[in-house]
Amino acid sequence: FVPNMKVPAEIIVNEDLQTLLVQELHDTCCGPKSDAGSSFIPALRQAANVAALPGIVKASLAMPDVHSGYGFCIGNVAAFDMNDPNAVISPGGVGFDINCGVRLIRTNLTEKDVDEKVREELAEAMFRNIPVGVGVDGGIPCSNDDLDKLLKTGIDWAIDKGYAWEEDKLHCEENGRMETADPNCVSRRAKKRGLKQLGTLGAGNHYAEIQVVEEIYHSEAANAMGIGKIGQVCIMIHTGSRGLGHQVATDALTEMERAMARDHIDLNDRQLSCARINSREGKSYLAAMSAAANFAWVNRSCITYLARKAFSEVFKREPDELDMHLIYDVCHNIAKVEQHDVDGELKTLLVHRKGSTRAFPPQHPNLPDDYKSIGQPVLIGGTMGTCSYVLVGTDRGMSETFGSTCHGAGRALSRNQSRKKLDHKQVLNKLRENGIAIRVASPKLVTEEAPESYKDVCEVIETCQDAGISQKVVKLRPIAVIKG
Ligand code: 5GP
Ligand code: MN
Ligand code: MN
Repeated sequence: FVPNMKVPAEIIVNEDLQTLLVQELHDTCCGPKSDAGSSFIPALRQAANVAALPGIVKASLAMPDVHSGYGFCIGNVAAFDMNDPNAVISPGGVGFDINCGVRLIRTNLTEKDVDEKVREELAEAMFRNIPVGVGVDGGIPCSNDDLDKLLKTGIDWAIDKGYAWEEDKLHCEENGRMETADPNCVSRRAKKRGLKQLGTLGAGNHYAEIQVVEEIYHSEAANAMGIGKIGQVCIMIHTGSRGLGHQVATDALTEMERAMARDHIDLNDRQLSCARINSREGKSYLAAMSAAANFAWVNRSCITYLARKAFSEVFKREPDELDMHLIYDVCHNIAKVEQHDVDGELKTLLVHRKGSTRAFPPQHPNLPDDYKSIGQPVLIGGTMGTCSYVLVGTDRGMSETFGSTCHGAGRALSRNQSRKKLDHKQVLNKLRENGIAIRVASPKLVTEEAPESYKDVCEVIETCQDAGISQKVVKLRPIAVIKG
């Protein structure tokens, strides 16, 4: 328990994951000084602190890939009642990488079309076409006018320019465009950072990965997504709104400090900076966050354009001949206005998902026609050396977690710990032994992003499956990866 909890904190974990979380809590209060520093707050305590925010309904939820983050833990889901005048919106509940997300593109290629030589060629072609690395620029040309337009219209800008296919839109959450976006609420500084970064992947755990289907658990859902057989080649892309989104979050945190003093909002942790949803600061953040979300959809669209081009160069066939359709695109760092049943009453809520994926059930009105009967596709990255998953949303998830599930494996080691513990040559050798072609911009990243740095994604997925908040459809195995 922490002071002022308005609702419980509910954590969805199995025994192993629970042990890790409780150990972390114990270590930070009673153990040797952790190398994460004195400002470190363990994930369990963070989930409880979120339960103390004004206007929160039902529970502060944490998904099985939960780990400590800025203010909210990563894996936190928190919904606030739009009709409660005290209810808040919080940038820490969205994350610095606004609309970080994952998309999956299918192909009609199979594993035998991509032997070792072709894997290397593909990794090389992707690395040549898609700019990667910290603060790197030069992806897709973008003028000031373009930027204002795309912040407002999201994927529609990319379709107009020929970077996205018209049909891609239907397979993006929110159809690739948040109507609540207002480019005027995005600072000049944020825009400046975004201008040069369109169509760039970024660093850290952002990646473009070529994968093959390893297992199909739910063939009806897989078929609806155009996944027909074991060995089919897909491309998974994970990135967000780059420096633009980061600056939007930073700007809002500063603004909200003042709003909190004015409106007498008390918090258990300063990192939970927030503002009333209906205050000037709250509205302005929602509009800026939505614009940054639109930037992220355009960014993933542009990277898709470059990936389609890379495949086209290697196989000397057009992307549509290679059947390179977008299966789906999900956000895992966002706050959205949604309708949910709370204790038998339909309420309009502002649902924050931070390191959590929306997972709407079959028949939900927001789903495209071709996915109505199976539920919303959910895309989960594991690590560059293990597996990734496609899931679908369930009715149980809708009623228990506001239609949300996990977003990844979640880190097991901090970046510092990974660098100390692991050797980058060994990590690279192991990937090569497993037939995975890799191109990275920075060698340091290899240890930070090693499979050993993450929790076991299979365990996370099984926990979601057992809890009934999402259902397994397909397991994917990496064969080539490019990273910052
Ligand atoms: P985040 O959105 O929190 O930055 O990261 C999401 C998840 O992506 C991580 O929890 C991790 O499981 C996964 N991930 C990180 N790097 C890779 C990678 O290179 N390939 C795949 N498939 N997944 C990754
Ligand atoms: Mn992410
Ligand atoms: Mn991100």
